[in-house]
This record gives sequence, C-alpha cells and structure tokens, in this order.
Amino acid sequence: MKDLYWTCNMKYRAAALGSDGIRLTMESALTARDRVGVQDFVLLENFTSEAAFIENLRKRFKENLIYTYIGSVLVSVNPYKELEIYTKPHMERYRGVSFYEVSPHLYAIADNSYRSLRTERKDQCILISGESGAGKTEATKKILQYYAVTCPVSDRVETIKDRLLQSNPILEAFGNAKTLRNDNSSRFGKYMDVQFDYKGAPVGGHILNYLLEKSRVVHQNHGERNFHIFYQLLEGGEDDLLRRLGLDKNAQNYQYLIKGQCAKVSSINDKNDWKVVRKGLSVISFNDDDVESLLSIIASVLHLGNVQFATDEQGNAQVTTENQIKYIARLLGVDVSVLREALIHKKIIAKGEELNSPLNLEQAAYARDALAKAVYGRTFSWLVNKINRSLIYKEGEHPGWGSASVIGLLDIYGFEVFQHNSFEQFCINYCNEKLQQLFIELTLKSEQEEYEAEGIAWEPVQYFNNKIICDLVEEKHKGIISVLDEECLRPGGATDLTFLEKLEETVKNHPHFITHKLGDQKTRKCVGRDEFRLLHYAGEVNYNVTGFLDKNNDLLFRNLKEAMCNTENPIINQCFDRTELTDKKRPETAVTQFKNSLSQLMEILVSKDPSYIRCMKPNDAKQAGRFDEVLIRHQVKYLGLMENLRVRRAGFAYRRKYEIFLQRYKSLCPETWPNWDGRAADGVGMLVKCLNYKPEEFKMGRTKIFIRFPKTLFATEDALEER
Ligand code: ADP
Ligand code: MG
Repeated sequence: MKDLYWTCNMKYRAAALGSDGIRLTMESALTARDRVGVQDFVLLENFTSEAAFIENLRKRFKENLIYTYIGSVLVSVNPYKELEIYTKPHMERYRGVSFYEVSPHLYAIADNSYRSLRTERKDQCILISGESGAGKTEATKKILQYYAVTCPVSDRVETIKDRLLQSNPILEAFGNAKTLRNDNSSRFGKYMDVQFDYKGAPVGGHILNYLLEKSRVVHQNHGERNFHIFYQLLEGGEDDLLRRLGLDKNAQNYQYLIKGQCAKVSSINDKNDWKVVRKGLSVISFNDDDVESLLSIIASVLHLGNVQFATDEQGNAQVTTENQIKYIARLLGVDVSVLREALIHKKIIAKGEELNSPLNLEQAAYARDALAKAVYGRTFSWLVNKINRSLIYKEGEHPGWGSASVIGLLDIYGFEVFQHNSFEQFCINYCNEKLQQLFIELTLKSEQEEYEAEGIAWEPVQYFNNKIICDLVEEKHKGIISVLDEECLRPGGATDLTFLEKLEETVKNHPHFITHKLGDQKTRKCVGRDEFRLLHYAGEVNYNVTGFLDKNNDLLFRNLKEAMCNTENPIINQCFDRTELTDKKRPETAVTQFKNSLSQLMEILVSKDPSYIRCMKPNDAKQAGRFDEVLIRHQVKYLGLMENLRVRRAGFAYRRKYEIFLQRYKSLCPETWPNWDGRAADGVGMLVKCLNYKPEEFKMGRTKIFIRFPKTLFATEDALEER
C-alpha cells in the first residue's frame, strides 16, 4: 500500500513540477494535489480542517516541497538537508515573475516585495517568525543573497552587497550559539533594513538588535555553548595573537566555556568560521587596531570567568587569581588596582558621602559576572553600530540618487515554551504577542475593514484579538511590566515573591492571568507558588518569578562602571559613557528598554507593506525526512495558521488600486491604450470587459478592483507577457 502510494507520488511529482522541476502553475497544482498536496492552502477543499492542513504539509514535505502558501503568506518547513532550490538559475526563474505562476518559494516573496517597492514606491517588510531552529535566519540569509544576485549593480553597490552579506557571519559569531534546539541559534532579535536607490540597486542597510541573551556569557545549560566567537578565537586564533591575549587553545581551561560541557560540536567548524569572521571584519572596514581592541574584550571576558575569590578573616572577598586580573586590566585598558578593588567592593553614595563597603564571596562573584555580561552585551551593540556605519547610505553623498526605499527583514525569536520559563521567555513571548497583534491589525482586521471601506460585502470571520494580553503586559500603572518596574525601584525588602504578590493584587481579575493562589483546584496543581501563568494567544505558559528582579535591574556596581569609564580600550571607551556616572536618573530597566524598542519596531513595521514567512521545524532531532505531527500541530497553532487561512479563504485573492491596475494592464485593451482620459475606475471597467472577466470573478470597490481567484490574474498576466 505504502509502495503504491509512493509510486504515485513520484509519478505525480514529475507531472506537477514539469520538466525544469520548478514551474508549477496553478492548473497543474490543482490536478496534482492528491499526490503532492496543494501549493496554496487556499485551494484546500476542506480548508477549516486542521488535519487536512497538516496532511497537506506532510505530503509536500515528503516530496521535498518545503514551501506552501496561505494566500500571500509563505509557510516553510525546515528540510534539515541541502536542497537544490537556491541556485542562481532558481533565482532567475523567480525574477520578475508573477507570484502565483511559479511554485512557492522564499524567492517569490523576496521578488514580490522588491517589485512592489519598485512599482508602488512603498517601503516593504518581510516578517519571519517561528520557533528556534525553524529556519528563520537561513531564510533571511537566502533573501539577502537573492537581492545580492538579482538586483542591478553600480560601483558602490558591490561594496555594499559585500558588506550586507559579510555582516551576517560576524553577527552570528557574536550573537549566535549552539543550543539544544539549534546548533546555530540566534540569541538576539534582528531587524535589518536594506535600502535601494531609484534604480533598484541595494545601496545601504541598517540593523536594529534586540535583547541579546547576555546570561549565556557566564552560564550555559547542559549541552549548550557560549557564543561562537569564544571558541572560534581559541580554535582559529594565530599563536601570536593568543599569546598577546594571554589565552591558550584549550576551551576546557575557561570557566565560562565549560558549563554546558560541549565545547566541540560536530556540525560546527570553529576554525573555518574564524577565517570567515576575520575576513568579514576587514570587509566592514575594521582596521587592525579595531580588531585587536575587539578581541581584547573577548579575551578579557574569558579571563574574567577564571577570576576567583576567597574570604579573609572578616568574611570579605579577596581576589586569589592575580594573574587573571593583570590580563583583564591590560586588555580592557584599566588600572590593575582599580579593577581589583572594584571587583570586591561596592561604592554607595549616601548623603553626598562615598562609602566603600566590602563584598562577600557571593556578591563578588555576582559583580564579576555582571561585569562580564555588561562588557559583552555593550560590545555587541557597539559592533552592530559599527556595522551600521559601514552600511550607511547618505543621500547627500550621492547626488541624484534620491531618497532610498526600504525592504525590512525581521528575524526574531518565536514563541518559547520550556519546562522552566523565566524573564527571558516572558520578554520573548511578549514580543510575539505584539507581533501577532500587528499581524491581526495589518491583515485580519484591515482585510475586513478594507472590504467595508470599499463597499464590498464581507462575511465576518471570528478571530481572537490578543490586544487584551498585550494590555495585560504593558498597560501603564496596571500592567505586569509596570508592577515589575515598581518593585525594582522600591527601596528595601523587594523580592521576586513580593513582586508576585503585587502582581496578584493588581491583575487578579484578568481572564488571562492565573497564579497558584488565584487558580481553581485544577490549575493550582499546575501553577507553582513561585509562578504566574499567562494565557497567551498561542497557549498557556507558566513563568517562574525567580530572578525577575535581578534580571530586570541588570545592575552593574558603580565602581565597576567607573573603572570602565577610565579605560584605554577604544571600544570599551565608547561603550561606557561618563554621563552614566553623573546622571541622577535611574537607568531604564531591562524590560522597559525592551518595551520601548518594541514599540519603536512596531512603528517601523506599521509604515510598511508586510509579507510573512512562517517557519516550522519538522522534528526536535534536527533530522532530515522526519515529520513529527505533534510538533507540527503545536506550531500550526502558535503561528495562528488556521485563523490566517480562514480569513484568506473568505475573501478575494487579489486587490489593487484602479490606477495601478490600469497602469499595468492598459495595453491589453484598445480603449485604454495608450492613455485613458476618464476616471481610473471606469478605465478598469472597460479593461475587464475587454478581458472578458466574468461577474463572479471580480468586484469593483470604491478605489480598488478585487479579484476572487488567482487564476483570473494569471490569465491577465499571461496576456501581458504574450504581447
Ligand atoms: P532559526 O533562525 O529559526 O532558529 P536557523 O535558520 O538557524 O533557525 O536554522 C537552523 C538549522 O536548520 C540551520 O543551521 C540549517 O542546518 C537548517 N536549515 C534551516 N533552513 C534550511 C533550509 N532552507 N535548507 C536546509 N537547511 C536548513
Ligand atoms: Mg536564528
């Protein structure tokens, strides 16, 4: 039975894919759908059935057809093997070709955004979501490559293209790490603008980074690693360099590298990657001094991890590893004794007087780790800035180029649910609620509103608006973030548990918030006394409050800050600003910084035309060919795909402003060619009559034409091509 099915599959694959293995028109997709599934979920007969949805995904996955549409949303399943679908000829096939005419692909999304940018002069963004290991970062890279290969070129463009591409391995070296889920997991969120000039050539770029997982610098869970750069430096660094940095090649000798007990990973070649990073640094205009300063910081972090303390008779911490302190001081360009003292004392300013109180063992270790995290985290942000400076596009410098238009690429952590969820998951999942809200706003809701505004009848679709959860998290004075910040500011006695109590008082009646105390019998069993549970749009998550205050405060003791401000390392010098010392205002908490940068991101995204890529992973073992249905079902739910499909299917596949539609197709009708003098709407009316559109195929709105089926549009596009 299975064999028979397989044989049919093979036969149909050949038929559906056509001779070149890729052109799958809508017609052939319809005939082949029994075997290889449909290439657009909109074509599923039983489109409300989750089982049918997953079955379609499975069929396609087995055929190595990893991409499928929901209308214009691209769903992607990580193949965990190299597929021959990213070659230059493939890129060429997607270039300038109508979206629905070729089989679903990243390149179709990339090309479609690019063409909208060119023809409609509206900024675009491509939002890539999905859980860790689903293929987001790979997708981002492939889209960048697509633009690098297919866009027109000029002199400057060559260097910018190089820099755009080279910035990736550098960011990954410093911001990615091996985790249990992904050997190359991005531990920060990234939004990247690619700027195009009036000729459509990429001329610049800009990167925004979000919430680097700094805790990884000092601790890794079992089976995970620190950021790649540490291992790359040890494995690949020339003897000379390592000697200058006081390092040896053995990762086992560094406390910050051995927590996860897996310095070596078979899928990672640190030595090679080191070479790529070194080359990349020079492409983005790092000179030798910059590189030396940067690597000095990386080395200083490794030495910091090896700093140890012992207690003296009074129970105060003393540094026992003098050698390390000397190296760190030299590498960071600070005074040895200042650094040593700063690591074991805490300076408090009370009533205008400075008090230097000694730290105990635990506090000193805390101070050391805080310094390592601060130094690494700030250096990462500095690096992003440095890359940005090398990608900068200044209008004035290129007279006549005009202002650039932009395609933004968002590659950001998807929804995370672990056994144990902490502050980081809270931030990440909050971010995903915001993105979901944006998605709802930009597609689901605006879809309905548009029909209404255009005077076209619409059957209402029920959907869950997650604004209520966003409010629960971020509302002023009443939201979780407010309560957390207040507790962080409260002098004396505030702990993670008092935070939980305050939270219970403030949001106890909220339908999406539960704690042990507030829950009924059943939930009590599943929510610990040190947890709160949020009912996210994608499911329930328990957050353990342990560490929330600490992580949110993200405190670096004042004397360590002072030490860093007196540095001779030029990078550290730019990372630590003296105003921090004099500024009376408390620095913003981690969650408030994150909230602000998210709201800034939302503003950026709202001003652009969005496209979506939803990435999924087929199994937890990083294995090719294995399709774990349970895992997939979870992701279909978290990504809100069924909801998405329902809305798409209820409506029209395509719509365009009359002016744009007329402009594009006016040559297909003698009455509208070469110019139509009347109202654009009347012109389009004339045009569709010429084209023999049937009444059920389209509707005329107030400002736009709506086309129900993609195939109507194909025919029109084909006619255009045949001319
Ligand atoms: P994410 O950024 O979503 O966490 P990645 O993009 O880093 O995930 O992908 C994880 C791994 O999966 C990659 O290192 C690669 O081995 C594999 N992978 C992802 N996308 C593809 C693809 N399109 N083709 C082949 N392998 C892929
Ligand atoms: Mg990633």
